[in-house]
Amino acid sequence: MFIGYHSPASSEGNPLSHTMNLRNQYVKINGILTSEFYINALYASYLGVPVAFLSGDKALTETVKELNSNVTTVVTKEGRHGAVVSKHPNVTNELIKEALEARKMSYSPYSKYKVGAALLTKDGKVYRGCNIENAAYTPTNCAERTAFFKALSEGEHDFESIAVVGGYGDIPEGYAYPCGVCRQVMMEFCDSKTFKVITAISENEYIEKTLEELLPLGFGSSNL
Ligand SMILES: [Zn+2]
Repeated sequence: MFIGYHSPASSEGNPLSHTMNLRNQYVKINGILTSEFYINALYASYLGVPVAFLSGDKALTETVKELNSNVTTVVTKEGRHGAVVSKHPNVTNELIKEALEARKMSYSPYSKYKVGAALLTKDGKVYRGCNIENAAYTPTNCAERTAFFKALSEGEHDFESIAVVGGYGDIPEGYAYPCGVCRQVMMEFCDSKTFKVITAISENEYIEKTLEELLPLGFGSSNL
């Protein structure tokens, strides 16, 4: 059983991380930066020993998901440069709940694809949005932009994260990632390295990415 493991030494995932002992700067296996979890998981696999894993380290949970996409992970710690930010999973769960509520307001008689979003400001306010379709199609607005425009029109400019849920039925069945237009709108108003996009199926089933991961090498105001 692996409890409390963290991302590999020399990664940006956890500035306090080490691998095996503090004298090693890093360990690589076949050129891959390797955590203690990875070494021990490979060894367990070699011996045929089943593994139970419990860790909230964001970078490590991403590595674990690459090894086995069926593993459910909940991120509780995220490395940012020289610091680690603790995240209470309930904050994310509440934001997803708000997005699920927002989805009930979806006006989508043409596509029938209902989307809800909940945008969290840095001072803790939540703005909901849903997709709003139109018979002329092009005036249609996505849930994410509805939430952003509501917040911006109320004077908000500091955003922490957005939760997005979408699908056809009463309950979302798959992940609905923001479209390219919405990613570009987020790029205008958010720090792409820290702003988080949470795409969810339910309160406890979600994938969290930074905007930079969804829009790499994006064009923003700093380019002009
Ligand atoms: Zn969109």
